[in-house]
Amino acid sequence: MRSSTATGTTTTAEAAAVYRGRFAPSPSGPLHLGSLLTALGSWLDARSRHGQWLVRIEDLDTPRSQPGIAQALLATLARCGLESDEKVLWQSQRHAAYEAALQQLQRAGLLYPCSCTRRDLAHGPYDGRCRQGPQGPGPHSLRLRLPASGGFAFEDALQGTQRGAWAALGDPVLVRRDGLVAYQLAVVVDDAFQGISNVVRGADLLSATGWQLALIDALGLPQPRYAHLPVLLGTDGQKLSKSLSAAALDALEPVAALFQALRLLQQQPPAQLANANIQQVLGWAVDQWNPLALSGVADINEPLTPAD
Ligand SMILES: [Zn+2]
Repeated sequence: MRSSTATGTTTTAEAAAVYRGRFAPSPSGPLHLGSLLTALGSWLDARSRHGQWLVRIEDLDTPRSQPGIAQALLATLARCGLESDEKVLWQSQRHAAYEAALQQLQRAGLLYPCSCTRRDLAHGPYDGRCRQGPQGPGPHSLRLRLPASGGFAFEDALQGTQRGAWAALGDPVLVRRDGLVAYQLAVVVDDAFQGISNVVRGADLLSATGWQLALIDALGLPQPRYAHLPVLLGTDGQKLSKSLSAAALDALEPVAALFQALRLLQQQPPAQLANANIQQVLGWAVDQWNPLALSGVADINEPLTPAD
């Protein structure tokens, strides 16, 4: 077994500790190569540490969550040999937990109503103008009051030391004007609920981590380790969306899809592996997992042609 992983060099003590990782897609479209890359990267990091790997469906944004998409997404993952070690957690069934967290923040005086619309705040971070009371009539969103000074710092296993000032982030919205719980709150509450020790996810979420650290601190939750994987960009240089432009993986053979994802994760699978079965591909990948090949890589361009 290799001694390096995306979330730190393995020591004897760490190897004995429980590693719990996760993959948390939102069901706004079918699984594409970019999301398989994230799923596989988090799965490999967990398995190479003899850890557990959980799946959570982030279906809070109900208008955008299409019925049946989540099930199709789970089925595609399963065809690629990636299955949750525990019952899949659905955010749409977690409202009581989010409400409890909001009440805890409310009691601590850390929530305030904000009347600002997106148009009011077109430029830069939120300046806290509603901290002393909303500037206009409702409906209001609810924001978290960040500390008045200072900032955050954390060590990302792949992207290096990250730091930022609270003022540069601005107070995040935790409940939207339409009443939907925001991603920042749900992800923090659910990672703690699932006992996640290592968050391995796409680098598009790197900039949101500061808000999540503030929430983790405010709620008194344990802080996971972070490793942000590169984001796969389309040939046009834009992030692949789960829209029609990103071809669903269903059309691709699972082994071919995994082989391609391993290449994109810079793991250099040998050509003969393209003719192996799923268990052989995954077994090779766990043994050879070298996340340091991705150090400092924040995005990858999708190849024009599939694996040859
Ligand atoms: Zn405001």
